[in-house]
Amino acid sequence: MRKHLSLLMEQNRLSPADLVEPQRSPVKPANRFSLQESSATDSTASRLANRIDRNVAAIPEAGTDDPTVSATTLAEYTFCPRAGILTHEKSYSDPEEEMPSLSLLPWYEKDAIEEAYGRSVYELFWLLVAFVVGLVVLSILPLPNLAYLLLMFVGATAWLHFTRNALVTWRELGKRRLSIRMAVQRDPNPNKLVPQPVDWFGLLLAGYEARRPEGVLRDEKRKLVGKPRRILQKGGMTIPVHRINKTDGKILPQHVVRVIAHCHLVEATEGTHCPFAIILFGNTYKGITVPNTVGNREHFYSMLERVRKMINDSKDGERQPPAPAVASMCQECPHGRPRPASEADKTIRYNEPLDPYLLVNGRRTIFHCDCGDRFRWKPEHRANQRLRRPS
Ligand code: SF4
Repeated sequence: MRKHLSLLMEQNRLSPADLVEPQRSPVKPANRFSLQESSATDSTASRLANRIDRNVAAIPEAGTDDPTVSATTLAEYTFCPRAGILTHEKSYSDPEEEMPSLSLLPWYEKDAIEEAYGRSVYELFWLLVAFVVGLVVLSILPLPNLAYLLLMFVGATAWLHFTRNALVTWRELGKRRLSIRMAVQRDPNPNKLVPQPVDWFGLLLAGYEARRPEGVLRDEKRKLVGKPRRILQKGGMTIPVHRINKTDGKILPQHVVRVIAHCHLVEATEGTHCPFAIILFGNTYKGITVPNTVGNREHFYSMLERVRKMINDSKDGERQPPAPAVASMCQECPHGRPRPASEADKTIRYNEPLDPYLLVNGRRTIFHCDCGDRFRWKPEHRANQRLRRPS
């Protein structure tokens, strides 16, 4: 063996040191997020949190020319670059509330649901009393037949209207109350790097406290804003909650980018650990965790950089986002949905109205859409199929 090594060194003019395997030092580029094992001295909160060291400072600050980007713009850009630009130019921010139905009724807070349910029962009781009192009053009032019938008709219509609304509210709140009663404690493991199914009230049973963010969360240094629907707190963990309209449990890349942006925002503004975000599905209390992994954060950051560049290029007129490679993406897109053309409803770009890109149907009714007006084309929206450019 020694002879063989000497021969090799002679042939390749190597010294003995060259044959020793070099020590590998860990590569840690500035923008990568490092993995750390939790130490024995960690606090309870840190131990509960993910072992990923999510160093907020690892994300470079935005430049002076960079625009402020919302989590919604980021999500839309991930879906389609044109949708991202449209959202940004319309100054669209995260919606204040996203209730799937009966938007005035409480959805997330247990106590508020119980209280509203009690009120709805009380309301039904008083409607029943009003019915009996109305019947008694009508039977003793000495009215001519026509006035009697008229009063009865008006009273019955109003009573039916209020009773119907009260019954719908009572039934809906009853369903939500049942979900509270049926909930089983669900405490997702913050160290898991894969999504875990959750249930809203199961999380509350596991000790998570829910609150509504007081305003839009802002990371001024990175020029990022966003507003989760709710924020859950447990120990040193802060978990943003988002709700999507889909009920089939499928999470798309735009959903992941949005909630990871929310994770970044809660960490940057509150200085707490955010090992995962939660996405709730449609008109249900079911949801899933989205782990705040290195990969997800790197994807979020790369989308943030790309959207900033695209916004700047598009504003300067240097480059516009291309049409999607797959036309079917436009089929259900709200930016491509045609609407009747009117002076009062123009597409707005940086507070300036755009000239509509007109389309007509067989009856010569004129339509336009946001994406068409902005990018001067006819998107392949399902409702656009029978529309054509006016001759
Ligand atoms: S209509 Fe099509 S191109 Fe326009 S924003 Fe929607 S998906 Fe993108």
